[in-house]
Amino acid sequence: MKIFVYPGSFDPATKGHIDIIERATNICDKLIVAILVNNNKKPTFSVEEREKQLKEALKGNSKVEVTSFSGLLVDFMKEINATIVIRGLRAVSDFEVEFQLALLNKNQNPDIETLFMITSPEYLYLSSSMIKEIAMYNGNIDSYVPKCIKEALEKKYVK
Ligand code: ADP
Repeated sequence: MKIFVYPGSFDPATKGHIDIIERATNICDKLIVAILVNNNKKPTFSVEEREKQLKEALKGNSKVEVTSFSGLLVDFMKEINATIVIRGLRAVSDFEVEFQLALLNKNQNPDIETLFMITSPEYLYLSSSMIKEIAMYNGNIDSYVPKCIKEALEKKYVK
């Protein structure tokens, strides 16, 4: 069984993330969306909130499971018996960090393979932080995030 792990902050998830997840499920048997619990960052949404949002946004896709992890990705992957990481690439600026992460993970565990999926052009400029900035100033985010996440953002930034 081909299990992919898509790790990330998803704070919050955007249509760019959802697009990667949906396209990735076309080429795997199971995809685990793994929210990283990062104690060094102060997230906008708690891990529980992000997990709930992703579950709601992906409820129609039976190949997807949403969970969270802390610590090293390689350790989490060993625990669940997975070896394939999927990551999205938007621009050259993503490449350098992604390249470094992929090599570090491979160095920690040579069995790990990282696959990169190129963004769909309509999501090229989407990032969680840009969307939060727009939401904060009451801008229109309909085309950037799933409905449940739009509602969560509106609630968060209500004046
Ligand atoms: P991280 O903090 O691990 O970068 P993110 O939630 O920001 O977590 O991103 C998770 C993954 O999704 C990364 O591989 C990132 O490059 C990718 N990604 C983010 N936004 C998009 C997008 N609009 N299109 C394609 N991939 C994206």
